[in-house]
Amino acid sequence: MADIFDETVLCSRCGKKMGKVCIDKNGFRMRALECKKCGKYIYHPIDTEEYKKFQELKRRPFNVKLRMVGNSYAISIPREIIELEREMDKAMARQMERMNKIVKLMLEEPGKLSLFFTAPKEKGKEERREE
Ligand SMILES: [Zn+2]
Repeated sequence: MADIFDETVLCSRCGKKMGKVCIDKNGFRMRALECKKCGKYIYHPIDTEEYKKFQELKRRPFNVKLRMVGNSYAISIPREIIELEREMDKAMARQMERMNKIVKLMLEEPGKLSLFFTAPKEKGKEERREE
């Protein structure tokens, strides 16, 4: 499928050619076109859809059961979360297909365990202002 972002897009305000950028929106990476002259942004439509799904899932509490499996405990991660992560991270999607993805767990404070699907991103690299 042809991607509109591979075409030359002119800014509707000033007629300048828009350039591709990656914007970090609350920790969510979004592809966008930017007009260097007036600062207008157009977010990639696919990323906009994913961002919406992300906002719906973000901070939504899930109740999952802790089960004993051998000498460890296991929890089930809701499918919606895995599917969204999969869409956002194509490299992860390939690993998930083989079902041997390694995730990171970290006990943050008493009563709070964090799970990382990917290594934490470097902050401030391609950060841009919000619309
Ligand atoms: Zn412009």
